[in-house]
Amino acid sequence: MKTEEVKTKAYAKINLMLDIVAKRADGYHDLFMIMQSIGLYDTITVTQNKSKKITISCNMDDIPLDEKNIAYKAADAFFQSTKKKNKGIHIDIVKRIPHAAGMAGGSADGAGVLVALNALTDAGLTEDELCEIGVKIGADVPFCIKGGTLLAQGIGDVLNKVKPLRKCYILIAKPDVGVNTGYAYKQFDECGKIHTPDKLGMLCAMQSRDLADIAARMENVFEQFIDVPNKVDIKSIMRENGALGVCMSGSGPTVFGIFDDREKANAAAENLKVYAKDIAVTVPVSKGCRLVK
Ligand code: ATP
Repeated sequence: MKTEEVKTKAYAKINLMLDIVAKRADGYHDLFMIMQSIGLYDTITVTQNKSKKITISCNMDDIPLDEKNIAYKAADAFFQSTKKKNKGIHIDIVKRIPHAAGMAGGSADGAGVLVALNALTDAGLTEDELCEIGVKIGADVPFCIKGGTLLAQGIGDVLNKVKPLRKCYILIAKPDVGVNTGYAYKQFDECGKIHTPDKLGMLCAMQSRDLADIAARMENVFEQFIDVPNKVDIKSIMRENGALGVCMSGSGPTVFGIFDDREKANAAAENLKVYAKDIAVTVPVSKGCRLVK
């Protein structure tokens, strides 16, 4: 029987390092990011129907359900690029990734839709071909398609493998504010950066897979000009409970800590409840999206 429904798990990411290298003439920024997929995911279910439209449902009230949704844009771009006729699809999003959090929640959903549609329509596109469609929707979408542990350069779309992060526990804490990524870049344009992360040192640490060294070298330049409420307390609690390193992800406000022991991460999570609404202990994963059989 022909498949009429495909499900994907679309994983969130954190930035183990984020440096803005330069502002480009086209207004975008050249970046250096060590990106890591984590086990926190949205579930995307794409169902075929005969509506000739793209419709969306989501378990969260504040996510747009129209063409502003990145999932919608991804589906639209897929049909345009492949020249396949859309007889009608419905996309259901079960959101677990906090949004406007610096964890690429929207880009993950876009990636999940592209991977799902590739399977649903038997388009047979390679991962690289899906990434070519994905980058038109957003710079983080190619990473969210490939995922794992990658060095991202250019606007975030030039991806190269680095050695996978060793098994560890990642504590995520998102204070109850959202940060607009456009605003964050504007702040960089106006303020510049005071300190430049040690990119070569981080690449060497990644190569040797030394978790403590990697965690100690984590740095995000957005932290130099984006204020996150309670960040100092959140980081202190993570460190007091044994975090090997702490850092902000993307343009914030999510702060994460790397632990080598789940109990320590759980204890820190317990102590963070007064400072952050969205808290989770998770692990690194080796893919950006997974088809659910
Ligand atoms: P990044 O790390 O790429 O900067 P982010 O975590 O800061 O991502 P998103 O979760 O992608 O930000 O959401 C940013 C905005 O995009 C939200 O405020 C929301 O209105 C809009 N948006 C559109 N589609 C989606 C989607 N599928 N999921 C989440 N947000 C979406």
